[in-house]
Amino acid sequence: MATLVYVEDHEGEPVKGSLGVLGKAAELSDEVAAVLLGSEVEALAETVGRHGAKRVFVADDPALEAPLPQPRVDVLAKLVESEGFDTVLFGASVLAADVASGLAARLDAGLNWDLVDLELRDGKLVGKRPELGDSVIAEVGWTSEPRLALIRSGTFEPAESGGSPEVLRVDVELEDFSTKAVMIEQAHEESQGPSIEDADVIVAGGRGLGQAENFALVEGLAKALGGAVAATRAVVDAGWYPYATQVGQAGKTVSPKLYIACGISGAIQHKVGMQGSGTIVAINKDPNAPIFEYSDLAVVGDIHEIVPKLTDLVQQRRGS
Ligand SMILES: Cc1cc2nc3c(=O)[nH]c(=O)nc-3n(C[C@H](O)[C@H](O)[C@H](O)COP(=O)(O)OP(=O)(O)OC[C@H]3O[C@@H](n4cnc5c(N)ncnc54)[C@H](O)[C@@H]3O)c2cc1C
Repeated sequence: MATLVYVEDHEGEPVKGSLGVLGKAAELSDEVAAVLLGSEVEALAETVGRHGAKRVFVADDPALEAPLPQPRVDVLAKLVESEGFDTVLFGASVLAADVASGLAARLDAGLNWDLVDLELRDGKLVGKRPELGDSVIAEVGWTSEPRLALIRSGTFEPAESGGSPEVLRVDVELEDFSTKAVMIEQAHEESQGPSIEDADVIVAGGRGLGQAENFALVEGLAKALGGAVAATRAVVDAGWYPYATQVGQAGKTVSPKLYIACGISGAIQHKVGMQGSGTIVAINKDPNAPIFEYSDLAVVGDIHEIVPKLTDLVQQRRGS
C-alpha cells in the first residue's frame, strides 16, 4: 500500500486528528508518506515524521496560506499522480472534507467518509463506518484506486512512532479556476481551553440549565476539569450557546475520555454525536430520561445543586 496522509495545520501546529490518522496509517504499512500544504509549514515536518511518516512532502507557499480547498486539491492531485499513491487519508475537519471531496472529483476516485477504523484484510483495505445512528458498523471498500478516506475526528490518538523524515519540497502550480475563491476575512472565536474535537473531557449543557446565563455552571466544571464545553441543539437554537459547540446529528461528533451531560434528555440526534465517549456521566432530575440508558454513571438530581458541588470538589482535589 502506498499511503499518503494529508496533515492539516492550524496556528503553527499539525492538527491532532491528522496525526492520529498518520499513526494508524503507519500501523498498516511501513511506507507511509505525509503532505503538508500551507504557508510556513516546513518546520512541522519533523513532528510529522515523529508521528509515523517516513517521507514528508512539503508544499510551502503563500498561495496556500488561506484555508481554501481548491489550491490544495491542485497540489495533491499532481502529487498523488506523480508519486503513484494508491491510498490518501484525511482526518475529518471542515477543510479536510472539502479537500477530500474536491480530490475525489478531480481524480475520479472513490471517497469513503466518516470512518472509525481501517484494517487490512487479505491485503485489501477495509473501512468501518457507523450507520443507522451509530447503532451498527458497516464495512466499506473501494472499487478503484486511489482510495480516499475521511476519518471521523477523535478516532485515533496521535502516538510518536517514527523518527526524522525525508523532507521533499513540492512545487505549487495552481489552476486558474482554483484561485477564483479568496479569503476575505478570518475571525477566531475567543475561547479558553481545548476545542471539543480535541478535549479529553467535555461538559455538555442542555435545556435543563433553564437559561443561557446558567451555562456558567457548565463552564465552571469544564474549567476545573481542564475540559471543553458542548451544547445540545435545543440550547444552540435558543441562542444560549454557539453552534460550534453543538454535539449531535446536525453538529459535531466527539469522543472524549469523559463526557458529562448536564440537563440533557439524550435524544437520538444528540446520542449519535457523543456515544463514542469513553465514560458518559449524566445528571438529570428525571430518572426516566433516555440519556440514562446509555450512561455509565446516572446521577438523578438537580444540576443547579449538583454541578456547583462537583466543581468545588474537583477544585479541592486539584488544589486550584
Ligand atoms: C433533524 C434533527 C437533527 C437534530 N440534531 C441535533 C443535534 O445535532 N444535537 C442535539 O443535541 N439535538 C439535535 N436534535 C434535537 C433533538 O431531537 C433534541 O430535541 C435535543 O437534543 C434536546 O436537547 P436537550 O436535551 O437540551 O433538551 P430537552 O430534550 O428539553 O431535555 C432537557 C432535559 O433536562 C432535564 N432537566 C430539566 N431541568 C433540570 C434540572 N434542574 N436538573 C437536571 N435536569 C434537568 C429534563 O429532565 C430533560 O431531560 C435534532 C433534531 C432533529 C429533528
